[in-house]
Amino acid sequence: MKRERLIGGAGLMQIDWDKTIDEILADKMACPRCGSFTNEIVAGYTREPWGADYAPRCQSCSRKEDCDARKLVILCAGCAGELQLRARPVDQVTLMTMLLNDCRKDLEECLDYLIEYWQDDLDVSPEDADKRLEEFDSETFAEEDEARRRLEEEYLTYHRWFREHGLRISEPGWRADYAEELIAHGYSTLLGD
Ligand SMILES: [Zn+2]
Ligand SMILES: [Zn+2]
Repeated sequence: MKRERLIGGAGLMQIDWDKTIDEILADKMACPRCGSFTNEIVAGYTREPWGADYAPRCQSCSRKEDCDARKLVILCAGCAGELQLRARPVDQVTLMTMLLNDCRKDLEECLDYLIEYWQDDLDVSPEDADKRLEEFDSETFAEEDEARRRLEEEYLTYHRWFREHGLRISEPGWRADYAEELIAHGYSTLLGD
């Protein structure tokens, strides 16, 4: 596989982060860096590798030491200041919306790759241009498919959270557009009907 996948690390949150999210829901969170309890959580994005330790969506990242993915990091305000992270205070809903949108971006990237971008990535010659990825390179397809399935499961955890809390999901049409596009190309998705 040629492509440097940024989403390799994205997956279901592990135990610690489940707990952290629970704490956020309870409006008290231990900062993942300094451990102090705070009710002012801040969130921001960084590409710096240190962010991997404080990024809920990077917990199973396979290249934490040099992860340069754009990571959504949550910290206490003090730590964010020390690390010079541009961050803003977030409440539960804002944070969950940020996670949801982050997950959507990764899914869109998967979709684009599956439908089209793999041809550039794998230097497909014109005579193979009509092939689908699964015909051209079944191993890469399997990896892509697995990565996409993990992201869709992650998406559903956020979706359920909004439902359980009786909250509106922002841009709900996104899901239908995504699913329709995949289905139109003959692929299945956990986000379909
Ligand atoms: Zn802290
Ligand atoms: Zn990572």
